[in-house]
Parts: sequence; C-alpha cells; structure tokens
Amino acid sequence: MKIFAFINQKGGVGKTTVAINLARALSLKNYKILLIDFDPQANAGSGLGIRVNKEESIYQALIEGNCERFFKNPYPNFYVLPSSIDLVGLEVELVDLPEREYLLKKLIEKSTFNGFPLKNFFDFIFIDSPPSLSLITVNILTACEGVIIPLQCEYYALEGLSLLVRTIRGIKKSFNPDLVLFGLVLTMYDKRNRLSYEVAEEAKNHFKWIVFNTLIPRSVRVSEAPSFGKPVIDYEPQNKASLSFIELAEEFLERVKNYSK
Ligand code: ADP
Ligand code: MG
Repeated sequence: MKIFAFINQKGGVGKTTVAINLARALSLKNYKILLIDFDPQANAGSGLGIRVNKEESIYQALIEGNCERFFKNPYPNFYVLPSSIDLVGLEVELVDLPEREYLLKKLIEKSTFNGFPLKNFFDFIFIDSPPSLSLITVNILTACEGVIIPLQCEYYALEGLSLLVRTIRGIKKSFNPDLVLFGLVLTMYDKRNRLSYEVAEEAKNHFKWIVFNTLIPRSVRVSEAPSFGKPVIDYEPQNKASLSFIELAEEFLERVKNYSK
C-alpha cells in the first residue's frame, strides 16, 4: 500500500496538519514522500511555505497529464504537488467529462519522476483533500488505496462520520474495489479536557483497532507553524505534538507492514 488520502468532510479537523507532519516524519526516516494537495484552499502548500498560481499547480498538471515539472521539494525526500485556489473551478469543469472520477488516478498512473512511474519512485503518496464530499473527493477516493480520517477530539467529532464511511463504501463499490479505511487519527487531544477523553473512547468503541493508538495533542505551536511555512516537527522538534507525529509515523509503518503480509 502506497497511496493514502486524508479525508474528513469537516474543515479544521487536522487533515492538512496530519498529512504534512506524517509526511515530514516519514521523510526524516528516509522514506521518499510525495504530498499531493488536491484542496483548492492550498493549505498543504502554504503550510510548507509553497505558494503557486494556477499555471504551476495540480490544475495545470491535470491538463498536461503529467505532474513531474510541478513538484516542489521543501525537504530532502519530501516532494509536493501544490494546489491553487483556481481548483475550485475544476468541479464545474469536470462535470461533463467522461471518466471524470478517474482524473487524479490517471494522473498518478501516467506521471513519471526521474524516469520512474510515481509508484515506483516514491515510498508513499499522500493526498490532502478539501472539506467536502465533492467530485474532487470522489477523485481522491478513486485514486488512493487507504483512507486516513483525522478526527478532532471535540464535541460533534463523530457526527458526519457515518456519511463518510458510507461514501467510502460507495466509492469502493463503484470505482475502487481495493479501497480500505486504513486508520483514524485522533487530533487536538487535550488531556485536561474530559470531552477529549470521551470522544477518543467513543471513536475507539465504534472503530476499534482502526483508531491509531498515537494521540496528537493540541498545542499552539502546531497552529503557529504554518505561518512560518514549516511543519511543527521543524518549527519546534521537541514539542509534544512533534514527538507524537514521529510516533504516529512508526505506528503507520507498522500497520503498512501488517497489511502487506
Ligand atoms: P483541515 O485540513 O482538516 O481543515 P487543519 O490541519 O488545517 O485542518 O487544522 C485546522 C486548524 O487547526 C489549523 O489552524 C491548524 O494549525 C490547527 N491545528 C491542527 N492540529 C492542531 C493541533 N494538534 N494543535 C493545535 N492546533 C492544531
Ligand atoms: Mg486542510
């Protein structure tokens, strides 16, 4: 398993933060990572200090059918295919296209890097997604192999999850038979807050082993880091959240290994 999408139709739950920091943690362990930003908000790029216009973004890559020349390389082993706000228009443009659900899948399959197909060059391909269950999200769920759901440990966190799970099942049936719900990451966990604990317990009751044991704690440093264009792992390496992302990377690798057995 190589291609993972970070999905939750709610905004502000930690999708981009988990995608960036898990990717960064894995790159530090010498895994080659590609992070594809397929959200018009383009936060995965900006959180890494990358800002591009339409002509330099995934939007243009989709038109050209190859993404290699659009890659940015903020850290060793860590490549990013950035997005731009113009992607909002894509939804409308896609509607009448044949095979409109498969555009991202085909882009990943057809693109090369240093002469290799992307799946051969990179150890992992991560896709950051918008806060919706739109055609863009359908493209992401069709292109990926595993879904990782970040869940904010706040009130209403589990609301909407059954719709998300049903959507994943629907895509599996219609477009992507090998799709798996790979994991659920509990984010913004506050151990002083009883609600955080209750949300975590409820998530574990519903989703059992799918929930990663690693809890990502809430820390203001995490929310400061994007304005410096850095993952929190680089902004403050010894921060409790930074350490938790390193731990999550280990748990992630262990789980990938078990899946390939
Ligand atoms: P999404 O991509 O789901 O919209 P983000 O990753 O952008 O969510 O996170 C939403 C906001 O919460 C951002 O401002 C981000 O910096 C902040 N944030 C994310 N994770 C944490 C955390 N563990 N502690 C504190 N703030 C966080
Ligand atoms: Mg985001």
